This record gives sequence, structure tokens and C-alpha cells, in this order.
Amino acid sequence: CGIVGAVSTRNIVPILVQGLQRLEYRGYDSCGVAVYADGLQRARSTDRVAELLTQVQQEHIEGTTGIAHTRWATHGAPAVHNAHPHFSHGPGADAASRPGRIALVHNGIIENHDELRAALKAKGYAFASQTDTEVISHLIDSVYDGDLFEAVKAAIVQLHGAYAIAVFCKDEPHRVVGARAGSPLILGVGVEGGENFLASDAMALAGVTDQIVYLEEGDVVDLQLGKYWIVDKSHKPVTRAVKTVYAHS
Ligand code: GLU
Repeated sequence: CGIVGAVSTRNIVPILVQGLQRLEYRGYDSCGVAVYADGLQRARSTDRVAELLTQVQQEHIEGTTGIAHTRWATHGAPAVHNAHPHFSHGPGADAASRPGRIALVHNGIIENHDELRAALKAKGYAFASQTDTEVISHLIDSVYDGDLFEAVKAAIVQLHGAYAIAVFCKDEPHRVVGARAGSPLILGVGVEGGENFLASDAMALAGVTDQIVYLEEGDVVDLQLGKYWIVDKSHKPVTRAVKTVYAHS
């Protein structure tokens, strides 16, 4: 239901969680956050975002790159194992126990999730949830060849349905990639330190940045420190206007 993502040089967890709190008005049944810190780390909850905050503090979950989500379940019951972020698991015999390299959050519905899941299972991917979303994390992993932006572009052409996604990979820890088709997603250009953000609503970034790029249908965005890059629905590079948005904090 709501997405926040960030690439920064400071611990970004407080901003991600605060962003979720600003998106709480949309309604949700569970929430979660994942960051890069020597691999992928995550906390998820079927309770309020405030409870998620307690959990990340108790477990000392900190990192400079991360994504966060409030979920409104469409596929798979509201439960911790179905809450986002989802990690890739696989391929291989020990797929379920091996920590994956892709972390992903998603708003929307993937219509062809059954056929994609069957194809990914045949390749040795292990599924840990009943969501339509988890297929996207494994699909991106299956086409990943060292460049997350290329992998996301290659994966989304196989998706039918509506999505806004934010993804990162533990092999490229200062990068978050986003894509939108049928669900909103904005880019927030950081005001200091070269940090950049993604969110489903500019309000999620109130007090963090007021420099907003409204992504268009089919856009894919590559966020790195001090720079970002956008391609349109035919994957051609585009320039989108940066707008100053006055959000109430
Ligand atoms: N379809 C996904 C799920 O059920 C995403 C739902 C949402 O937009 O929050 O997990």
C-alpha cells in the first residue's frame, strides 16, 4: 500500500519508518523494513508502524540503503511471512535456507504470478510466502548479472498487472531501483549528502526533502549516491522536472 526507499550515507532507518508513519493514513495490515548492513537485514510486523520501530531499535537494524512498506494484502493472508520486504531465495537445493541478495517491496497486483512462480520453482527458487510480490524478487534475481537497473528492466517486461516497486541488491549496496506501472511512485532528490529517496507519496518525505520528481507510467529509476537516472516505458533515457513540493510536516 505504501513504499519508501533511500540511498544515503547516514543510517536511514528512522527516515524510512517515519515515512511509513506518514503513509499510515492509507491503511495497512502489516509493515516492514529492510536495509543493507553486511548483507540483507529486515524487520516485519503485523502490528502498527510504532511496533516496527521498537523492533528495529531492539534488533539494532541500521543501514544506509533501504526500503520499507505498508501492506494491504491482496494475495496471501496478513501475516509476518507475507509482509514485505521480500528477499530472493535461490536458486539451488539449499535455496530456502540461503539468504538471498535481492530485497523488494511492491504495491499493486501481479496478474501472472502463478505462471511466473511455476517457472521460477522449476529453476530452483524457494518461496517463503503466498504473495504475488515474491515472484518479482526471484524473477529479478534470475536475470541479475551484476547490474540491478538492467535486471529490473529485464524482469518487469515479464510482469502483467499493476505495480510500484523499490528494490535493492546486497551486491550493489549503494543503489535502489524503482519502477512504476499502474501504482504511484515519486523520486525525492536529497538536499544534502547526495542522498536520494523513493516513495509512493511526496508526503512520506515531508521534512526530508521537498524536491520531488513525479515518475510517469512505465518509468524505471536508478537511485545512487549523488545521482539518479530515469528511463521511460520504452527504456529510453528521459529527463523529468524536479518540483518543489510544500508538504505539511
Ligand atoms: N499484492 C501485494 C501483496 O498482497 C501488494 C499489496 C499492496 O499493495 O500492499 O502482498
